[in-house]
Amino acid sequence: KVRVRFAPSPTGPLHIGGVRTALFNYLFAKKHGGDFILRIEDTDQNRYVEGAEQYIIDALNWCGIHFDEGIGKDGGFGPYRQSERKSMYKKYADDLIASDKAYYAFDTAESLDAHRKEHEEKGKTFIYNWHNRLKLDNSLSLMPEEVKERLANGDDYVIRFLTPPDEILHLDDLIRGSIKIDTNVLDDKVLFKSDGMPTYHLANIVDDHLMEISHVIRGEEWLPSLALHKQLYDALGWTAPHFAHLPLIMKPVGKGKLSKRDGEKMGFPVFPLSWNESEGYKEAGYFPETVINFLALLGWNPGTEQELFSLEELVKAFSLERVNKSGARFDPEKTKWYNQHYLQETDNAKLAIKFLPTVKQHTNIESKVNLEYVTKVVSLIKERAVFVSDFWNLSDYFFVAPTEYNAKAAKKQWKDDTASIMNDLVSVLEPIEDFSSENSEAVVKAWIGEKELSFGKVMPPLRLFLVGDMKGPHIFDIMAMIGKEESIARIETALD
Ligand code: GLU
Repeated sequence: KVRVRFAPSPTGPLHIGGVRTALFNYLFAKKHGGDFILRIEDTDQNRYVEGAEQYIIDALNWCGIHFDEGIGKDGGFGPYRQSERKSMYKKYADDLIASDKAYYAFDTAESLDAHRKEHEEKGKTFIYNWHNRLKLDNSLSLMPEEVKERLANGDDYVIRFLTPPDEILHLDDLIRGSIKIDTNVLDDKVLFKSDGMPTYHLANIVDDHLMEISHVIRGEEWLPSLALHKQLYDALGWTAPHFAHLPLIMKPVGKGKLSKRDGEKMGFPVFPLSWNESEGYKEAGYFPETVINFLALLGWNPGTEQELFSLEELVKAFSLERVNKSGARFDPEKTKWYNQHYLQETDNAKLAIKFLPTVKQHTNIESKVNLEYVTKVVSLIKERAVFVSDFWNLSDYFFVAPTEYNAKAAKKQWKDDTASIMNDLVSVLEPIEDFSSENSEAVVKAWIGEKELSFGKVMPPLRLFLVGDMKGPHIFDIMAMIGKEESIARIETALD
């Protein structure tokens, strides 16, 4: 059975790269009728950030990426927080020691620093491995009695993996194919610390094994850990899950990985929800559908021209075979394009509810702030909007009369006969009883024909007088909305 997990560390807010990892896991699970598990990897107490776990859960929920098992949703493999699984890990570290696959190391932070410095001075990088091992303070360079004594003394230790020298490891990745690694370049990673906590590496593979994870789908930054993880599975006599490492999300311009700084510099969110000073996608007015859709296409492609996908469509279309190896460039303009699309798809009444507070803030004409009116306004102007926050600038004249007129347009539209034509227009509008868009359009057009006026002499000034600018939908729709009295009043104000 397909069982995948998203395993974030609660060290801060989830970056959209993390959301993408969660999404790909979710899509893969749903595509194969499997389970998607949320596991919190909080063994590193120094990096623990209060509130981050809840943030992760809220962010996934907002995006619609719901987990089948995890915190608060037991599926028989819990607990799902590593700090609550603390007592499970030591046994496996001990097993590895017993089978000579791991060893105790007593080096202090100071002595390791000194080794690092010494290497640096010679222009080399210090690696804790076969090459340096016997010069270091560990059980491989000590007599067994001495090791026992130091453990009995309660000396600080860590348990390190014993990487065998001179071996070529053959690793498989579902996206990258087979990868060969020479063990001589690997270091003996710490698996367990004397504070009783496992490191990420040990806890991660123990949990993936105990939780019966079938596929590990995670970011490319974890590819360097694959060699160790594979060796750990082998050393513990376990079958390793399949691995798939997702390509990095790259900066919109230039080289390198997308970072929080890029968002700050270019003015786009990098977090799904706000976190401290940083605005999230949600608060910036994006729809969860937008976020899911653009993230899906960062590193995956459907093999067709289709760009718009609902979550259900993504589940159907998704496959790891179509995930690229190379980094995926993030395009903030494209995210807006998606949002404009999903805004058009959203029900006008729902949008009106979101827009209503802004309308109330700007206007005191109570009659105009009813939901029905606002819904109609939304239907007339939303075409040009990317966000609900664009609505006010696109529609203010539906709620308040213009107080100034676009000077350039006024200069262009104001001709010698404008005042008299517009005065006549007022007397044409006044007797109209059915002020619907169709009817007043018919009446006005008939009058223009009869008087042999040109449209250009009537329509542009009319728009300017009613809207204050040359923008907006069909002018007769606007008149029908604001009503006869208000339309005439605006024309007269402009003529004054
Ligand atoms: N805790 C790791 C992280 O924060 C999980 C990596 C993995 O999926 O193995 O991303």
